[in-house]
Amino acid sequence: MISEAAITGKTGVYGIIGYPVDHSLSPVMQNAALRADAINGIYVPFAVAPDCLAAAVNGLRALQVKGCNVTIPHKTAIMPLLDELAPSAVQAGAVNTVVNQAGWLVGHNTDGDGLMASLHEDLASETAGARVVLLGAGGAARGALAALCRAGAASVAVVNRTLSAADALVARFCRDFPATELKVCGFDSSLAGLFPQTDLVINATSLGMAGEIIEGLPLALLSDHARVYDMVYNPPETRLLKNARYRGLKAANGSGMLVAQGELAYSLWHGKAPVPGAMRNALESFVTLSAKT
Ligand code: NAP
Repeated sequence: MISEAAITGKTGVYGIIGYPVDHSLSPVMQNAALRADAINGIYVPFAVAPDCLAAAVNGLRALQVKGCNVTIPHKTAIMPLLDELAPSAVQAGAVNTVVNQAGWLVGHNTDGDGLMASLHEDLASETAGARVVLLGAGGAARGALAALCRAGAASVAVVNRTLSAADALVARFCRDFPATELKVCGFDSSLAGLFPQTDLVINATSLGMAGEIIEGLPLALLSDHARVYDMVYNPPETRLLKNARYRGLKAANGSGMLVAQGELAYSLWHGKAPVPGAMRNALESFVTLSAKT
């Protein structure tokens, strides 16, 4: 990122479209990385109401916005409006990154690989051969399931309140990844049979954002080597993470995934990885500062 005085006709514009978008921490991370690389660019939030999405996508072309992230509620709705979808977006059924190649808009998804990077870095968790319990069957869970299957997980049990959503997800991925054993469970007594053999529990529901506890999880039955990952990063310590740590398990929140998906998007736009730590440091400073004010 550059100072306001240095914005010229040559400044590349990047951004994020969502609705609402004011909560997004991507501008903090992306502008810090642009600054660290001394790239003549700026990254801004665009609040785009659902009925304006098609106009906004055309606007990306008209205004020559070089790239953007996509967040709730547009990740799926934007797909038919783009010119091309990368395999990552097709598999995840969602787009979180758009690259503008001279007016040709290509949709990618970096959430799944961001999760894999964070599992590796923050939990030293090996996903190849792992037996995973995935909580949730929404957009984040779908991206996670695609990445877990690609990484060669031995089994994934998709646990969801609405069983039909989990059934649909599993049916979709069974065909593409026959080597990973997929099953569907509710938040019920069947988890007691599953947890003792589980290596990794991932929360991809929105539970925890408002301090909720996830009912019906028999954390006590997990083995001592099991790890717990919560995609929620605000608050940084959810009830799930607190309970997992109390149980003595290694656990991490979703801030590493947020950083890693942003770093992967940055690489797609700029053709190189950001300066190591630039995004994570900016995020941590911002969160610490926000907690004080
Ligand atoms: P989504 O598509 O709306 O899915 C929400 C999921 O949460 C569904 O499985 C839903 O179950 C479940 N859920 C919601 N309320 C529930 C309740 N009261 N009881 C039980 N289950 C409930 O949302 P998403 O985009 O997948 O996001 C899910 C979470 O992941 C959010 O917290 C989001 O912030 C986080 N996330 C983090 C990152 C990161 O970089 N760290 C990236 C993406 C997402 P039903 O099917 O039964 O409704």
